[in-house]
Amino acid sequence: MKIHEYQAKELFAAAGAAVPKGIVVHSVEEALKAFDDMGGKPVVLKAQIHAGGRGKGTFLGAPEGSGGGVKYTTDREKIAPTVERFLKYPLQTIQTGPEGQKVSTILVQQAADIAKEYYLAMVLDRTVGGPVLMASTEGGMDIEEVAHKTPEKILKLVIDVETGLPEAEARKIAEQLGFTGTQIDQAVTTMKALTKVFMEKDCSLAEINPLAVTPTGEILVLDAKVNFDDNALFRHSDVAAMRDITEENPAELRAAKSGLSFIQLDGNIGCLVNGAGLAMGTMDIIKYHGGDPANFLDVGGGANKDQVTEAFRILLGDPNVKAVLVNIFGGIMQCDTIAEAILAAFKEVGFHVPLVVRLQGTNVEKGRKILADSGLNIATAEGLTEAAQKVVAAAKGA
Ligand code: ADP
Ligand code: MG
Repeated sequence: MKIHEYQAKELFAAAGAAVPKGIVVHSVEEALKAFDDMGGKPVVLKAQIHAGGRGKGTFLGAPEGSGGGVKYTTDREKIAPTVERFLKYPLQTIQTGPEGQKVSTILVQQAADIAKEYYLAMVLDRTVGGPVLMASTEGGMDIEEVAHKTPEKILKLVIDVETGLPEAEARKIAEQLGFTGTQIDQAVTTMKALTKVFMEKDCSLAEINPLAVTPTGEILVLDAKVNFDDNALFRHSDVAAMRDITEENPAELRAAKSGLSFIQLDGNIGCLVNGAGLAMGTMDIIKYHGGDPANFLDVGGGANKDQVTEAFRILLGDPNVKAVLVNIFGGIMQCDTIAEAILAAFKEVGFHVPLVVRLQGTNVEKGRKILADSGLNIATAEGLTEAAQKVVAAAKGA
């Protein structure tokens, strides 16, 4: 699960990091009031979306050259046109996809004078099997490029989940970043806050980019991003309450409500599969035969008729889907149950695209008979290769 920058900053501030004063707004009136309440000093208006790269983003349809989703202003007169633009056009960044993302929340934040921008983050690193703290003097808007071209400029420290961040190691990193005097203490405090948020809230990512140093030597969190492990959300009701569903894919949300594991992709072959491994294998073999999966969908080991019908509704509701492959291995789930569910779904939703069904396992003969007797135009397959070839051909209109 992702949250907005302003929410991530609240978490970091509560954990002890220095964050500039900010007020969350949803309209021009609120933005003007926030500007006044903050003393009419320079502010940065920041579009809140669950995607990075906002500073270099563009508002689709807005007059050219009007800038991205992070706007510095000293001028009260500039607040209204900027907020209007933010709320009117979708913001497209390298992380949003071509259609951009609608903005409904804006953070009005006190502007900081920036002498230098640093990068500070904690991620779960599969290769070391635990959290890793990352820090770099090359912070700001191009950290991906730094990681790609000059990875040696990113310092890394593997964190022991039992002991957390050792003070001495944190000081060493602060020194390696070039901090001296009281800045070392500020940097260490920020690293501790980052670690605390990451550990206590079961994050998969916690990032501060930029961590800025002002000309007077103050260290401030200027941008913040935090992602959570969905599987741990049950023990963080405070985190779950921060969810903004308007930022999420509606099909994925709907699937989650029915207990289906669904991830939207951009191909045209809908996949309905039981078991994550089989779902991955099915996507691979579709690719291998020249097709493109429209989604990952695991209906689970014991999916019932309602779940399967809902899965079909979701798949067929995607206008990109040109064919559907049902690939079920009957273990706990029985093939005749799936066959019945397919018929029920057909009655309810109607299939406007070709359907290829491959059933194996428990009650497979019964399942196949139900489909054959139905009189519906369903292509069947016994093996995975045959199924993939048939559905790829169907999607291509063959
Ligand atoms: P994104 O990473 O989505 O582009 P950021 O919040 O990192 O958004 O903002 C982009 C840039 O804008 C930062 O690298 C920083 O230079 C500047 N910036 C952001 N917030 C402030 C602020 N409060 N004061 C001054 N400059 C800021
Ligand atoms: Mg940033």
